[in-house]
Amino acid sequence: MLPLLTINEETIPNCLPNLLKKSIKFVTLRKTQHLDEFFYFSGWFEMVPVRLGRQDSNLRYPAPKAGALPLGHSPMWRVLYHRDMMTATIDVQKIALYEKWIGQVNSPSILSLYAHIPFCTTRCTYCAFNTYTGLEALIEPFVEALCHEMILVAQSGAGKFVSAHTLYFGGGTPSLLSPDQVGQIITTAHKYFNLETHAEITLEVNPGSIDFGKIKGFKAAGINRVSIGVQSAQSADLELFGRKHSFEDAAQAFQLARRAGFENVSIDLIYGAPYQTRAGWQNTLDTVLAWEPDHASLYTLTLEPQTLLERQVSSGKVPFPDSDLAADMYEDAKETLAHGGFRQYEISNWSRPGFESRHNRQYWLNKPFLGFGPGAHGAAAGVRYWNVRPVNDYIRQIEQGKVCAYPFSPALADHEVATIEMAMTETIILGLRLVHDGLDCAAFERRFGRSIYKVYGNQIDQLAQQGLLRKNQDRLYLTEKAYLVSNRVFVQFMPDD
Ligand code: SF4
Repeated sequence: MLPLLTINEETIPNCLPNLLKKSIKFVTLRKTQHLDEFFYFSGWFEMVPVRLGRQDSNLRYPAPKAGALPLGHSPMWRVLYHRDMMTATIDVQKIALYEKWIGQVNSPSILSLYAHIPFCTTRCTYCAFNTYTGLEALIEPFVEALCHEMILVAQSGAGKFVSAHTLYFGGGTPSLLSPDQVGQIITTAHKYFNLETHAEITLEVNPGSIDFGKIKGFKAAGINRVSIGVQSAQSADLELFGRKHSFEDAAQAFQLARRAGFENVSIDLIYGAPYQTRAGWQNTLDTVLAWEPDHASLYTLTLEPQTLLERQVSSGKVPFPDSDLAADMYEDAKETLAHGGFRQYEISNWSRPGFESRHNRQYWLNKPFLGFGPGAHGAAAGVRYWNVRPVNDYIRQIEQGKVCAYPFSPALADHEVATIEMAMTETIILGLRLVHDGLDCAAFERRFGRSIYKVYGNQIDQLAQQGLLRKNQDRLYLTEKAYLVSNRVFVQFMPDD
């Protein structure tokens, strides 16, 4: 039985997390509680009283924000009301864990930074990213806005981060920016986020959008890792994908990167697409590995709603992708890459030793990252958030904006507060993706104050019996059999409701 403490107005301030004290005092000062009044606990920032079912015009409190959790349903709280007083029963042990966790999410952290560049010259048939064609005229004001956004967020976060150790330019087609523009963003990151001297700074490059002068310029601007969207060595695949570059363009982009002095070059490939064959895929793998890249990300094609390819497949114009064939292609890739000296360190990522993506690792370890640009997502200080998607709206909101509460920017679209339960689930799901390192159970316990076996013992045992998880010392791993059905594993760690 967990220790419980019944609290009243006198004891409330001493048994609550510091960040809640102010709110609870505010609540207890009110003497006219209504029987049907509930308190909504919106994250740990505020507590908002509302009447159940309807808004009472006499109440001067705002309605709960979207996403707020009803306090009465919170696992930590049970609140009872009487006509003119409030009592609450609080699980002290959970509060202590929560307080520790809050302390952790608010302690100064080492960040990763993501800059979303939302411009492309054409749209690929499978693409659902937040990117736009024909808006090149906005690149200049966009870069200004992005730098301004970084400054505003950095100012709001003074004392809440130590430094940034990675910066990733994704998109979109970041290589549409000029080296000067990329340099301006990197300089801003150094100045305002203390971007470390040896930080990993990646730029996604679209074949056909660079020449030697430009890629050299990116290197001089501070980029030290490039990720080239090769996708396939088969011209039929590239045509189906609506890629405007040829395989020769991709090969040339790779050689240019090497000539410019890049020692860390990654390639992206897509498998499991309609019409693809194992022989063609094998040819793609062999041809691309002969270049000796340092890192490879292999993505299975997904039919995203609202994309041209999805419409073509739904209308029967293009055959549905064959998932059994995709599974075979995945196995082929695993074998070929292992032969080529690559280590699979994540479900979809392989690298030469020492060339794992530090930026993506931050995501998989569920550590804080800030997203800048239209539609960019971020997660820090216990919240997940995302920006508005249209480029014009983004620029306007940043131009008119002011410093907001960390980690938000004036371009915020929405956010959700991470509960400790959500954070545990995410840490497991993301961590298990790191197939070589596995999930560090001791680190989990340090972070959340609870043994993973105490919280998820049943699920772990069942998955181990099914041959999908294995335990080794203080780590948990997906078995190879589980790589292709990882969602079956992950769903076991999701909350019931
Ligand atoms: S280049 Fe990338 S971001 Fe641009 S349309 Fe193609 S897939 Fe989408």
